[in-house]
Amino acid sequence: MARILIVEDEPRISSFMSKGLKSEGHSPTVCADGVSGLDYALSGEFDLMVLDIGLPRLDGYGVLEGLRAQGSTIPVIVLTARDSVTDTVQALDGGADDYMAKPFRFAELLARVRLRLRQQQGDGGAAREDSLTVGNLRLDLRERVATQDGRRIELSAREFQLLELFMLNVGIVLSREQLLSHVWGYDYDPGSNVVDVYVGYLRRKVGSAAISTVRGMGYRFNVNPA
Ligand code: CA
Repeated sequence: MARILIVEDEPRISSFMSKGLKSEGHSPTVCADGVSGLDYALSGEFDLMVLDIGLPRLDGYGVLEGLRAQGSTIPVIVLTARDSVTDTVQALDGGADDYMAKPFRFAELLARVRLRLRQQQGDGGAAREDSLTVGNLRLDLRERVATQDGRRIELSAREFQLLELFMLNVGIVLSREQLLSHVWGYDYDPGSNVVDVYVGYLRRKVGSAAISTVRGMGYRFNVNPA
């Protein structure tokens, strides 16, 4: 569990991040402008900050500058506009640890949050989360390679993210909405049947017994016999 400060002025995006981080067991706090974001970040109460660049009162660069000038070493993940190389370079030069282009998927945010928190905690944690094993399935999270009984399974990037999410939640029913927001992001049409289609793909690759349909609720991942 980490205390995560979200500085973002678009309510739709901050609530998307906040809800998702909460469901992962983190404790998020949202600030909608740069001045209070900087204040909060300097309080020393947070383990990590997700910082938007375009903010009222003080933009993301100003927040970073203030933070680093005051000696704060809090890890910062900056949200940039897609394709803005200047933004990205400027943010990293200004002391950001990582960046993500909008729109992003929740799975991507989560991966970056994990990575930053791990680096903060030192190498001890790094070895632990490089792979994920459930039954006869193993995911190499660094190389993004999936194997079953030691044999490689070819997965697309989306299929890999979906399988990772299932394997992190063994035995728990995940709704279509949860799967959509984690793997496809907030820009996806909630009425879409893309989740069902991808669950079908995964079943074909890892075995249909791995994923049960829970009528009216969603899907549940089961442990395959090793
Ligand atoms: Ca903004």
